[in-house]
Parts: sequence; structure tokens; C-alpha cells
Amino acid sequence: MTTKVALLGHPVGHSRSPAMHNAAFRELGLDWHYEAIDVPPERFSEVVERLRGAGFVGANVTIPHKLRALEAADQPTEVARLVGAANTLSFDRGRVRADNTDVEGFLTALAETTPAAPAGMSALVLGAGGAGRAVVFALLSAGAAAVTVWNRNPGRAEALVADFAPLSERTALHSEKAPSMAGIDLVVNATSLGMRDPHASPESGAGDDFFKAVPLSADELDDRITVVDLVYRPDRTPLVRAARVGGSRYVDGFDVLIHQGAASFRTWTGMQAPLGAMRSGATNGED
Ligand code: NAP
Repeated sequence: MTTKVALLGHPVGHSRSPAMHNAAFRELGLDWHYEAIDVPPERFSEVVERLRGAGFVGANVTIPHKLRALEAADQPTEVARLVGAANTLSFDRGRVRADNTDVEGFLTALAETTPAAPAGMSALVLGAGGAGRAVVFALLSAGAAAVTVWNRNPGRAEALVADFAPLSERTALHSEKAPSMAGIDLVVNATSLGMRDPHASPESGAGDDFFKAVPLSADELDDRITVVDLVYRPDRTPLVRAARVGGSRYVDGFDVLIHQGAASFRTWTGMQAPLGAMRSGATNGED
């Protein structure tokens, strides 16, 4: 019987995770299948219960359910508990385990581009939602020297900094309403800005209002800076395009997607993920 894994989100239609994981299952000859299920917030707990009785061994969880996923778990990992959000559930003999593989995905993808990063670096994190929390936790746990958090709604950045203050003995952590780029050598976009507008034509440069919405200008990105964009799109996000033009090292959202997916894959299957197959599945988007 086919072993099943789900992605639970709302919406989920744009996600490359099904194509990425199904490519990995095919590559290893596993009779497994990954499917996206659109779950409105009020139905999350009920759907998790139903999956457990229907042959699913686990699920990825995306916007807007990452907090609910943590609450639904009776065995959260320490990382998921400290981040305050989970993106990976495993159903194991009547128990629900929850992990947050966005942390590992971010750090592994970053280390591929800038091997010593983020130790000793000064980072500007744009966004204080679920992804922003995972990124700030990753930066603190991996020895960043300083982390400045900016968010459109500043109260959310202040709350994030207050939550993580106990973990920041080695790192200068603060929020800023109008941060400066002076001394910054790592910029992370953890907002949802830069995604493609599905109604825009490919030529229109949709998403180019990114730099109007964030406290950063494209010409501040030069070869001293490493950029990570968690958002992915095949024609490159405005931030990644500007990083390439300015000569910055960069990690795009596909790199993070693949490494967080590889960590989830390992959790469910107990096997190392075939990264090449996952990358072509994610970038080609064919399931
Ligand atoms: P979330 O919890 O809903 O947070 C969304 C964030 O985006 C908040 O900081 C929000 O600011 C900000 N934002 C939304 N619209 C904005 C706008 N017009 N101007 C400025 N800021 C805006 O979502 P999330 O889970 O953190 O995910 C954020 C993004 O990261 C998503 O695009 C997600 O797909 C991506 N992601 C990618 C990966 C990967 O593997 N590549 C992993 C995780 C997440 P406010 O608080 O002011 O609303």
C-alpha cells in the first residue's frame, strides 16, 4: 500500500513541495506519495486527526498553520518549541511529533554559499512571522554577532525580540523601525514580499515594489553582503535579482526549500534525501 504524506496549508496551490518530494520518492524507488491539501484554519485539528487514521505517516505544514501544528503535537522537538512554530509533523504509534526544519534548511543553504556563516556576522532580518522566528532562532543558535529585526508591523518585531532575549547572550538582538545597513553583512528576507503576482505578465517585473516596501535599497547590495531570500520563484525574486546585479553572494528560496524538505524527508523515511532529484522536482514544478 502506498505510504502517504501531506502538505497542509491555505492556500497550497502554488507550492513546489509535492513535485519536490514525489521526485525524491521516485528517485529512491519508494512507493510513497505526497499531496497538497488546502485546509482552512478552523478545520486544521480535524484534518490532522483524519490523516492519522488514513495511512498518512506525516505532513508538512505551511501558512497559516505552523503555530497550530505545534499546539497539535504531543512531542515537539526542542527546536520547534523554542521557535514557537512547526512545519513538519510525524504520526508515530498514536503520537504526533512536531519539528521545525526551516531552521536547518536556512542554515544548510546559507553554509553552501558562505561556509562560515552566520558565525560572527551582523544580520538584518526582514519579517517577524513564522519564517522570521525560525531565521532569528537559527542565527542566534549558530553564533551571529548581531541581529536586527524589521517588520512592517513593528510591534511584531518587538515581540519576537522579547521572546528570544533569553537565547541571545552571545548576540546583540534588537528590533528597528528604520534600520541602517551600516555594518550589516547578511540580509534575510523572511517576509512574503517578492512572490509573483499571478495576475501580472512575466514582462512586467511583478514584485518589483519589494524595495519600496522594505528599509533597504537595491544599490546597498554589494560584494560585502550575503543575501538570503526565503521566497522562491522561477524568474528570481527582486531581492535575488538585485543581489546578482550588485555582486552579493545569495541564497534563493529554492535552496532553503530543498534543504528544509530534505530534513523533513529524513524524518519520515529515515533515509538521506536525494538532493539533485528534489532540486529538479522543485524547479521544474512537475509532479
Ligand atoms: P507569515 O507568518 O504569514 O509572515 C508573513 C511576513 O510577511 C510578516 O512579517 C508580514 O509582516 C510580512 N508581510 C506580508 N506582506 C507584507 C507587505 N506587503 N509589506 C511588508 N511585509 C509584509 O509567513 P511566514 O511563514 O513567515 O512566511 C514568509 C515567507 O517565507 C512566505 O513567502 C513563505 O512562503 C516563505 N518561506 C519559505 C520557505 C522556504 O523553504 N523557502 C520556508 C518558510 C517560509 P506583518 O507582520 O506586518 O504582516
